[in-house]
Amino acid sequence: MAGVHLLTYADRLGGDLSGLRELLHDDLDGFAGVHILPFFTPYDGDDAGFDPVDHTQVDPRLGSWADVRALADDGYEIVADLIVNHVSADSPEFRDWLARGVASKHDGMFLTFDKVFGGRATEAGITAFYRPRPGLPFTSFMQADGTRRLVWTTFMPSQVDIDVRHPAGEAYLRRVIRALAEGGVRTVRIDAVGYAIKTVGSDSFMTDETMEYVQVLAQMCREAGMRVLVEVHAHYTQQQRIAPLVDLVYDFALPALLLHSLVAGTTDRLARWLEIRPENAITVLDTHDGIGIIDAGPVKVGGVELPGLIDQSEMAAIFAAASYATGGISDQASVIPAWCELPHQINATFYSALSQDDDAYLLCRAVQLFVPGEPQVYYVGLLAGVDDIELWQSSGQGRDVNRHHYSHEEVQAALEQPVVRALRALIRLRTKHPAFGGEFSWRQVGDDVIELGWVSGDDAAVLTACLTTRQFSIVLRNGSERQRLSSVAELAEEFDNG
Ligand code: BGC
Repeated sequence: MAGVHLLTYADRLGGDLSGLRELLHDDLDGFAGVHILPFFTPYDGDDAGFDPVDHTQVDPRLGSWADVRALADDGYEIVADLIVNHVSADSPEFRDWLARGVASKHDGMFLTFDKVFGGRATEAGITAFYRPRPGLPFTSFMQADGTRRLVWTTFMPSQVDIDVRHPAGEAYLRRVIRALAEGGVRTVRIDAVGYAIKTVGSDSFMTDETMEYVQVLAQMCREAGMRVLVEVHAHYTQQQRIAPLVDLVYDFALPALLLHSLVAGTTDRLARWLEIRPENAITVLDTHDGIGIIDAGPVKVGGVELPGLIDQSEMAAIFAAASYATGGISDQASVIPAWCELPHQINATFYSALSQDDDAYLLCRAVQLFVPGEPQVYYVGLLAGVDDIELWQSSGQGRDVNRHHYSHEEVQAALEQPVVRALRALIRLRTKHPAFGGEFSWRQVGDDVIELGWVSGDDAAVLTACLTTRQFSIVLRNGSERQRLSSVAELAEEFDNG
């Protein structure tokens, strides 16, 4: 039976890796695994660690590989990122290439404009690319001999894209994979791989060539003894397509569908998703990137719209509800990518996006924890954190509203809240109740009610959730014992009773 994982930064929760370990030991027991967001050198670059200068080294300000291995030795499944698509422009590899050009041993590792287009660039070809950020994905750099280069930068100008299929790019990725495996990482999250392969004449996102490459990379990671989790924010059919090729995908559609159900008061879209979703999925409501919404929406491919689980106006209604709940903050903090009408994600904490309504929040978490898959809870969500407006305003990074730096005292205070204790009771239930090792079934009970249940022999756990009243109840059977938990207060008390 898969346990629940925590998703966190080491610095923003425990201060560093040993602080995180202490916290997990002393105050946050009950997790089976931890996805530690990029802890490489440096962990605090332009993209909060997703722009490594040295992806093989733990940032010494956070600790060392020994600290990561210590967590693995404690029994936690360690999940870490393999940042495939790019590396920092300050990396020794890129600097060396700028300094020595074709004489650099890293020549070929980086994607330039000419390398992709080979002199065949057209306006239509350049603008066809799908980009998760506003504007075009190129940044100019000058080499030491004065040659001007236009380097592919899918994300930020300081994140230079790697030619992952060139021997120099592959050698780099193999070095990183080895470092992760030796460092105690058991599951590797392949970051943003959907953008890694550029194919002229397509939008270069999740193409057939990308799928082929994912299989090659997955094989490299598996040979190193790690499970493979692929991170893709995309139309739900893309998750269905990639799920059989890897060990795990994310169920990013779930939060969008839950928010839609709360806004619309219906469970039909959620029910449809339960029929067709891949079950080898990490279930999430929130991550360091915000609350995924496009994953449930429609997409245009070559001018033709593929319908989503929800339509464009329903997506817009979710953003509008979040904006209302956050007093307009989520609208200002969320970023609209190139060629899109809506942001990909809501930048807000999940708790803030629900107007800090404990019942609605626990209802969503209960659904997350009852849906098949491997549940993951983000540290801000675990602590029912609210938008950090100050951090966002000082950094100018919208995603920072949902990336609070917790002091030890703040963690202790958060852990006292009924909503947090109730969530921890749900986590414990999902981890320990034997019913979750059995068979899953679900049914819609009227328009606005959904029932999710697990049965294993004499053990059962059944959640009934009403999306209009925001009421839920959990009925448990453990052999001959029966129990019903149907409020935040009852769950919090259940947690206190151990
Ligand atoms: C990560 C983001 C990051 C991006 C570029 C992702 O999908 O989750 O936080 O900005 O990749 O590395």
